[in-house]
Amino acid sequence: MPPKRLEDKVAIITGGASGIGASTVHVFHENGAKVVIADIQDSRGQAIADKLGENVVFIHCDVSNEDDVRNLIDTTISKFGKLDIMYNNAGIMDRPVDGGIVNEIKSDLERLVGVNLIGAFIGAKHAARVMIPQRKGCILFTTSACTSIAGLSSHSYAASKYAILGLAKNLTPDLGQYGIRVNCISPYGVVTSMAEGITEDQISKLENFLSDLGNLKGEILKPECVARAALYLASDEANYVSGLNLLVDGGFSVVNPSLL
Ligand code: NAD
Repeated sequence: MPPKRLEDKVAIITGGASGIGASTVHVFHENGAKVVIADIQDSRGQAIADKLGENVVFIHCDVSNEDDVRNLIDTTISKFGKLDIMYNNAGIMDRPVDGGIVNEIKSDLERLVGVNLIGAFIGAKHAARVMIPQRKGCILFTTSACTSIAGLSSHSYAASKYAILGLAKNLTPDLGQYGIRVNCISPYGVVTSMAEGITEDQISKLENFLSDLGNLKGEILKPECVARAALYLASDEANYVSGLNLLVDGGFSVVNPSLL
């Protein structure tokens, strides 16, 4: 049996009912963590918690709603006594808009910022509220490879994710003085419900495209690859890693400097 790398740790994973978040719930649970799934998809989140047993619970939480996030943190402390890892992963996406910024709509920007940035901000704030007195903790964010590569998404989505990098950078020294580490994970091209409707044919075309570009093995990233990166950053193996934006993109951003 490989060692459990999160034994005795308590983790919250927002967006834990689907995709990258759900995969991270499984990986953290396998590694001994007590896990709180926070999501707006109640039946999916509850089903994962029921399947994994007593050390995994589901709490309904809209990350853009501060009362929900306050309740999430306080309920986690009541149930498990502490919070070691806050993974602010919930997010919503947008594809590039034909015609670019002149065709983008302010209300779409507000919707994306409302969940992606404001959700990350409120999550970090309420996690810090309980981690500062603990004098330790780990805050993670899922940003996106669009923080490194232009043209992958709408301008609104890119702005909502890039702003999280600024938040994380500013938080790093502020929370570092209390022993709290802050890191980002930036994936690219993970097939999750965000890619809903994508056909096998489209997946195979995308794989060929990635292969031609020199992406690692030409494969599309699986949610578990991102979950494994989160496992490393959340574990004590990364106890001197803070202020990092870890790209999990199969080398896409490095092998394609023309896109930068
Ligand atoms: P997903 O749609 O499978 O999962 C997102 C989860 O977030 C869902 O369970 C959804 O219900 C939840 N969620 C959405 N709005 C919420 C809210 N207001 N409050 C609480 N939960 C909410 O997609 P995913 O690909 O697993 O996305 C996870 C994160 O990864 C997102 O932040 C996304 O922007 C980021 N990301 C994904 C990719 C990709 O290729 N899939 C690439 C870069 C970044």
